[in-house]
Formats: sequence, structure tokens, C-alpha cells
Amino acid sequence: MRYSQLFGRTSKESKQYDSKNATLLTKAGFIDQTMAGVYKYLPLGLRVLTKIENIVRTHMDEIGQELLMTALAPKELWEKTGRLGIDVLMETRGANDASRKQNDASYILNPTHEDNITPLVAQFVQSYRELPVALYQIQNKFRNEARPKSGLLRGREFRMKDLYSFHVSKDDLMSYYEVAKQAYVRTFEALGIGDKTVIALASGGDFTENFSHEFQTFCEAGEDLLFYDEKTEVYYNREVTPSQAPAVSYPDNEMKERAEVLGEGIIGVLELAEFLQIPVEQTTKTMLFVADEQPVAVAVRGGYEVDEGKLKKVLGTRTLRMATDAEVEAIGSKVGYVGILDLPEHVRVIIDESCDNRLNFECGANRENYHTVNVNWGRDIQKPEQFYDIKVAQEGDINPATKKPYPVHKAAEVGNIFPLETKFSDAFGFTYTDESGASQKVYMGSYGIGTTRLVGVIAEVCNDERGLVWPKQIAPFQVHLVTISKGEDEAYKVSENIYGELSEQGIEVLWDDRIDVRAGEQFADADLIGNPVRIVVSQKTLEQKSVELKLRSSEDTEMVALEDLVDQIKTLI
Ligand code: ATP
Ligand code: MG
Repeated sequence: MRYSQLFGRTSKESKQYDSKNATLLTKAGFIDQTMAGVYKYLPLGLRVLTKIENIVRTHMDEIGQELLMTALAPKELWEKTGRLGIDVLMETRGANDASRKQNDASYILNPTHEDNITPLVAQFVQSYRELPVALYQIQNKFRNEARPKSGLLRGREFRMKDLYSFHVSKDDLMSYYEVAKQAYVRTFEALGIGDKTVIALASGGDFTENFSHEFQTFCEAGEDLLFYDEKTEVYYNREVTPSQAPAVSYPDNEMKERAEVLGEGIIGVLELAEFLQIPVEQTTKTMLFVADEQPVAVAVRGGYEVDEGKLKKVLGTRTLRMATDAEVEAIGSKVGYVGILDLPEHVRVIIDESCDNRLNFECGANRENYHTVNVNWGRDIQKPEQFYDIKVAQEGDINPATKKPYPVHKAAEVGNIFPLETKFSDAFGFTYTDESGASQKVYMGSYGIGTTRLVGVIAEVCNDERGLVWPKQIAPFQVHLVTISKGEDEAYKVSENIYGELSEQGIEVLWDDRIDVRAGEQFADADLIGNPVRIVVSQKTLEQKSVELKLRSSEDTEMVALEDLVDQIKTLI
């Protein structure tokens, strides 16, 4: 490709975005923002995305077959799985009267495809002989994310490779799950980020008692926080991290007099701590939930959040939701002022371990605008027989296994594998007939990789102060050929030959053939775009019958004789 003809130039004045990846990729001419969370891929960007997707495809072909489903789906499919209420779900319909007059239906824009593929497979599979089945696709997804951010990392339209597997038993599912996990490990290695990508345990959601596994790439712009257990060498996503709050210290161990304090409209713990002039860790956040129709008061130390996944495990209930205002009033309390003191007998109380070992702490007075201060275990309220871990882990928390604070890492989730078990097959009544003719449940797994997020994550982790530094397997071009000339001189002609020869050998070359820009600008563009090998041809290099060769990832240059160039390049790419 001749740079003079490439659509989408570099631009020094391009906008600064909230993330390095959006800023760099826009400046270098790879992407263009349509609106928040929605990006177009220009020719350079599409080359990277296509290479990433082809590497993913090669590895998925080893464990499944590719198909292509649709972006649109009828609402009924999502109704059937009870997922019409998912908070990121988008729908679409005719945009004007004329259009709606022709067809007034509205459709779901699929955010993922379990709801679509399960009935498809059910249509073709009846017997144990036809299982297992593993199918995947690479396609645009739509999610009404509250805050699209971090450039390509969190979009409202993005691309995903999604694979789904169907099995005769949980055992068969779990052995395939391991095969898929290993295929993922190889995929991220092949993408050039194997050394920065780890497997983290995450919640299995409503689907399974098991963990799901996330593939997380260490990255400052990532939204996830990983906690590393040095004892077992396991990474945990924060929602499943066993955590212990750091101890609170008290210089004098004296209990103070309990009192109710009027603090009108003060609800948030930060505001409350300031108002009461106490540290945040002395406040208590109590929330009322309803689990299988029973009210449950749940308390964590101020500064922590309740982790509903952990809470659900502790409760062992099927359902869990926040109580309504009326339900809070029904237990004699008031939203914003719920506390653990003097609750009716039928309210179950679950208290996080972060509330233990405190003196003179605050908690809601179960009365509008009032807070109780100087509460103490034993004196004001019976110390619970058991404290639990129901909080979202945060930086500084102690690993109960090592008694030391966890090392934490910021990371971006690039892939996720999930043992779904029978959630979707149950919803669609998808069963198979076993050897004895009996009807059996189909077990399912799902396995995603965010291919557009990968473009963003790799841009985030592979760059320097001058621009992008692509791993060679996904760079838009393998070679960036810079010609320094003022017209069709010798340097230009030799470059044209090199361009032709390398292209003939199947080597991808971006030839900066511009004769009207300064050499400095050409070098700056080469660095910004980030192709792995740069060749410079100029009158000066030709005096030595050579060209200059430099790797993007290194500062060293070397002179290579013209006749050795092709061979030399082949060893580099
Ligand atoms: P997250 O926790 O980041 O919101 P998720 O767990 O909801 O992601 P999955 O449903 O597991 O995402 O989707 C599979 C993969 O798709 C993710 O691992 C991620 O790489 C990618 N992905 C998910 N949401 C987005 C998004 N809004 N923009 C870009 N990529 C995304
Ligand atoms: Mg996920």
C-alpha cells in the first residue's frame, strides 16, 4: 500500500480522548469515533482487527465450527429466557411513520447469543449421538452501557467472538471447558499478549455454583481489579475475592455513651462521617434485602459495598433483591436510616466481618434522619455468633490465607468462559434422548473474546511516547518503507523496486512514497503507526548501496546491503 493513497492519514491535531487507546488510534488514523462508545475502523484499523479475528478464528476452528447469526432477534426469544430485563438490552424499530407503517415490530439488538443459538441447536440435535456440538461466530454486539469509556474497551457497539458448546452431561461440559480454556491460553499467546494475560476466577452468576474464568490483561486503563493470592497463585476478580478488612486501631479502649443524633437527610457514609466527625470506618452501611421473600438486613463497614454474589452464597437462597421503600417501612425503619439495632425478630441479620472489632461505631437508628452513635458489641447489641464476608473486596484488604494485604493489579477482561449448565436448555425445553431412550438435560457452556476490545487493550499496552508498537503478528503492515526524496530520483526508484519485490514475496509493506513532506514528519508518522520494521531509503544510504533498517521496538539502526534486504526482512517478520 502506498501511503500517498492510504485513506485515513495521521493527524497531529486530533482530539484527546479519555483513554490512550482512543487518542493514539485516532491520531494514527486507525479509527474514527461516530459517537460515544461507537467507532469506525479505517483501513489501518480494520487490518489490525481482521488479523486479531483471524488469529482467534484459527484457534477456535480447533475446537468448534464457525457460523454467523443475526444482530436482530425477536423479543420472544429474550422473553423465553427471562432476560428482557437485562439492563444493557437494546431494541430497535422503524424510525418514522412511513417505516412503521410498513412494519411496526420492534426487535432486540443482540448483546450476546445464548438466547439465539440454543433454539437453533435444539432444532438440529435430538439424540446423544449428535452431541457434543460447539459453534462460534465473530459479530457485532450491542449493549446500552451506562458509561461507554476507555475508547475501544467499553463500547455500545463492539465485536465479539462467541462460542457455545452443548453436552450430554456436566462432566462432558467440564472436560470441554478445560479444552476451551487451553485454546484461549494459546490464542492470547498467539496475539502477542500471553505474558501480560492471566486467568482470573470470577462469579458464575446465576448459572452455576462454579466459578467462571476471565482472561484478564494487565492494563492501567482496565476496569477490573485483580487480587493475587500468593499462596495458591490464583488471581481473583474482586467479586469473588475472599477478603478481610484491615483492622481499625483505637488509642483508648473506652466505650462512650450511646446516643441518637439528628442528621437530617444525611445518607451517604462520607457525608455522614464528616457530619459526625468520625472516620468513615466507624460508620456502618446497612441495607435491607429480600431473599426468598424473607427480609434480610445486611451490614458492612462504611467504605465497603455489599457484594450480592457473596451474599447470595451465604444466604443460600434462590432469589435476592433490594427491599422496596414499603418493605423497609414494614420492618419499622426508613430508607437511608436502616440499622442493625432493635430489628424485629423475623428479620435475618447478616453482618460482614469488617464490622467486627470496632468500638463506638455508628449505625442507622431505623428512624428518619437519625443515626445512633457509640454503638458497642455486647453492650448495645449482641455480638453475632458469626460474621461473614459479604463485601466487595478493595485495595488494601487482607488475604485471609496469608494474613497480608493482597497484591492488586488493574486489568481489562479480554475473554470470559462460562459453564452455563442448563439455564438456557431449560428455558427452551432443549433435551436429548440418551442410549436407553430417556430424555435428558443438555449442558451448555459459553466462551467470549472481545475482538474490538483487544484492539484497544493491545494499543494500551503496546506503545511508547512516540506512538504505537504493534506485535508483529497483528501490525497493520509488516514493513514501513520510508523514501526520502524530492521527486522521482534514484531513492524513489530503488524504493519502488523494494516495494515490488517485498510485495511479491507476500510481505505487507506500507510505502511512504510522499515526496512533499519532510523526513522528520515521515519518521514521526512511522513511529506513530507502529509497524514493526522500518526501512529508510535515501540518497545517503544508496551511496553505500544500502538501506537503513530499524525495528520499531528498538532504538538501534543498521545498514543492510540492497542484495541482502529481502532475506534479512524474512528473518525479522
Ligand atoms: P464487562 O465485565 O467488561 O462488562 P462482560 O463480562 O459483560 O464484560 P461478556 O458478556 O463476558 O462481557 O462478553 C465477552 C467479552 O466481550 C468480554 O470478555 C469483553 O472482552 C467483551 N466486551 C464485553 N462488553 C464489551 C463492551 N461494552 N465493549 C467492548 N467489548 C466488550
Ligand atoms: Mg465477562
